[in-house]
Amino acid sequence: MDLLPENMVQLSAAVTQPLQLTLLHTHGIALDVLRLDKIDPVISGNKWFKLQYYLRSALENGQQHLLTFGGAWSNHLVATACAAKKAGLSSIGIVRGEQPVVLSATLRTAIEWGMQLVFVRREVYNQKNDPAFIEQLARTYHHPCIIPAGGEGEAGIKGAAEILRLTNSSYYSHIICAVGTGTLLAGLTLASQPHQQLMGIPVLKGFHHWRPADISGANLKRVHILPDHHFGGYAKKTEALLDFMNGLYKETGIPTDFVYTGKLFFSVIDLIKKNYFPTQSSLLVIHSGGLQGNDSLPPGRLIF
Ligand SMILES: *Cc1c(COP(=O)(O)O)cnc(C)c1O
Repeated sequence: MDLLPENMVQLSAAVTQPLQLTLLHTHGIALDVLRLDKIDPVISGNKWFKLQYYLRSALENGQQHLLTFGGAWSNHLVATACAAKKAGLSSIGIVRGEQPVVLSATLRTAIEWGMQLVFVRREVYNQKNDPAFIEQLARTYHHPCIIPAGGEGEAGIKGAAEILRLTNSSYYSHIICAVGTGTLLAGLTLASQPHQQLMGIPVLKGFHHWRPADISGANLKRVHILPDHHFGGYAKKTEALLDFMNGLYKETGIPTDFVYTGKLFFSVIDLIKKNYFPTQSSLLVIHSGGLQGNDSLPPGRLIF
């Protein structure tokens, strides 16, 4: 029996949307977008998939609290807060850095969903994968279910592997997503088929060597990491990127975020222009959500 309440998110809203752009016709490419951004405004996109098995294990083990980690604009933190509340659990967020005078919109939303925030200095935060630190947190916070930052780890990958069930995925020659921790990409890779190529667009600088233990060598050969599309690094942006996001929205009605999916779509369109994909390719681009991060932009900069 599934202990998770039904309708935590609305999976049926995750439509597959074909794009009709002149560029696609002239290059002989089909491009569909899997709209995971639509499943929930707060437990957005890929974050739900990575969280679901952590939530299930907490409920199965009778744990009443979730504890996880994130920065001031973390999609994962706010998703965890909302998911915990809906599942009848309480949540604790270990936040990187000193408590600011004015909280970010993300942290305010997390608090609204009942999350207790604990601000820690960067040196402390950076111990978040250290077993001794984890043990100390477990004792301090009454043995919560501790979810690694970004929902990574085995349970996160297992959950992300379920994303491709939402569409007729075997049809596509390429499956493309943004990469933070690489958990989403790992899940997609596990669920993909031998005739398919996977492409990951890292949004951080210096993301070259991606070797998750869970992925076999044969599967890894089908994965292509394109490390030069990060626009200067994590959460860095350019005016050209924001203009592109506005243009994409005008032409397709698809809103994107500047941290992940804006960079993803910009890169895919750029690669098509540069004839990266053979004609007749059919691309599935994963819209992994994250729109709440745009709240850090000046009001009015984006048209959506
Ligand atoms: C967290 C996030 C990602 C990255 O997922 P990983 O599994 O960490 O690689 C991609 N897109 C959005 C919108 C996200 O919030």
